[in-house]
Amino acid sequence: MGKIDLNQLINESYSLYRDVSLGTLPNYIPELANANPNHFAISVTTLDGKTLSVGESDHKFTIQSISKPFVFSLALDTHGMEKVRARVDVEPTGDPFHSVIRLDAESKRPYNPLVNTGAIAMTDLIEAQTSKIREEKLLYFLETFAGRPLKINEKIYHSEQSTGHRNRAIAYLMLHFKMIGPNLDETLDLYFKQCSIDVNTKDLSVMASTFANNGINPITKKKAMKAEFVKHVLTIMFTCGLYTDAGEWAFDVGFPAKSGVSGGILGVIPGVMGIGIYSPLLDSHGNSIRARKVCEHLSKKLGLHIFDQSNLCS
Ligand code: GLU
Repeated sequence: MGKIDLNQLINESYSLYRDVSLGTLPNYIPELANANPNHFAISVTTLDGKTLSVGESDHKFTIQSISKPFVFSLALDTHGMEKVRARVDVEPTGDPFHSVIRLDAESKRPYNPLVNTGAIAMTDLIEAQTSKIREEKLLYFLETFAGRPLKINEKIYHSEQSTGHRNRAIAYLMLHFKMIGPNLDETLDLYFKQCSIDVNTKDLSVMASTFANNGINPITKKKAMKAEFVKHVLTIMFTCGLYTDAGEWAFDVGFPAKSGVSGGILGVIPGVMGIGIYSPLLDSHGNSIRARKVCEHLSKKLGLHIFDQSNLCS
């Protein structure tokens, strides 16, 4: 990426896609439908600790499913690979994120930690004496990635909690298969909270850059997770990070990422930088249309596809 001016490139991406107004606002969590469809922001944080942004990069939105790779990381960091793999598989499903059908009753494991079944199983692994301490552990872990204190958006949390019956059904079905422990009401509550953490695109880019820097926050220099697990988390993001569009994403864009239903995309360029983008209008897979387009543009311009070897030949 040597000769390209990153600041110029993100400004160019912003201008290119600012007027794209396709897509719909999510409404299955009622409070999310109140998002402003014009909001659009791009941030990148490079490993020398610099963050560049364009658009409403201070605007807060809830992290939603982008929390899932972090909670998977927390599970690995706390319990190690063996215990975590006993609770979750690492296979893409091709099904919607909240599908209840993909539960492997035989192995007693959900398919992967980025669909709701697997994500709830990972939240279940945040263990502590009280629900308050479980919540603190969760927040502290994400805060080390972000390098600043984070808060739960109470409005979204209550909206999600009062309408999350499908997630309750999933959790009870998993209890039936003994895939999660009996404390599931508390675990579900914590899952709703983890999805309701407020972030902006600057936060997402710093969090992504911490993955890109092998688990060390490049700004605070604090270790957020054990380096040995970073490649596993990035692999899951590469194969399962973009809902039912994950295959096409890996094919076209080609770097590990995770999207969320509120319109965020977090992208990781290992050894180079973290990307955070927000725009709430979604495509039929549930991915932000503008954010996806920006990632595709950045990937092409900077040669970010992890299998792109054209730079090696020139
Ligand atoms: N809180 C959401 C749910 O489980 C997460 C949705 C998402 O971002 O994919 O329904």
